Amino acid sequence: MKKSFAPRRLDVRAFARAGGELAGQWPLAGFARLAPLLLAADDGAVPGQLQWAVRGEELPVRGGASQTWLHLRAQAALPLACQRCLGPVLQALAIERSCQFVADEAMAQQLDGEVEHEVLVLTRELDLHALFEDELLLDLPLVPRHEACPQPLPAAAEAAAEPLAGPFAGLAALRRPPR
Ligand SMILES: [Zn+2]
Repeated sequence: MKKSFAPRRLDVRAFARAGGELAGQWPLAGFARLAPLLLAADDGAVPGQLQWAVRGEELPVRGGASQTWLHLRAQAALPLACQRCLGPVLQALAIERSCQFVADEAMAQQLDGEVEHEVLVLTRELDLHALFEDELLLDLPLVPRHEACPQPLPAAAEAAAEPLAGPFAGLAALRRPPR
């Protein structure tokens, strides 16, 4: 019988040893750290899903202990606010990463300086949901933008024509001396 693995409490070593594979999708709204950075729809909910897949691998090492690996893949279209026109923009994100799992922190730190890939410390139960959220946060674009902003840009155009438009317009009116 095939052992089943729980993505939010993954026994990484056993998963790798079994050459296990898991895949699924999680709503973006369920990522507590990521969701506040996303643009909610008119109904207040953050739309979208993360499609993810993970594969475990145990790599034999000649004359040594075998290595434990997870290969992660995920993709999502993140709803963000365009930093040019402030309109909604869907930012496609694709993650493809391999993580090596080692026994302890000292080993992880030592390897981290030597190798390009990600090195994590083995835990008894790994939460893949949290791991994918880490990856999403790492890859989140700092300045999301439309390739070409939809036309016209009423707010931006107004601001350019009239320097006092926008959030300070009200303030300027207050400062106007009484007639
Ligand atoms: Zn834009």
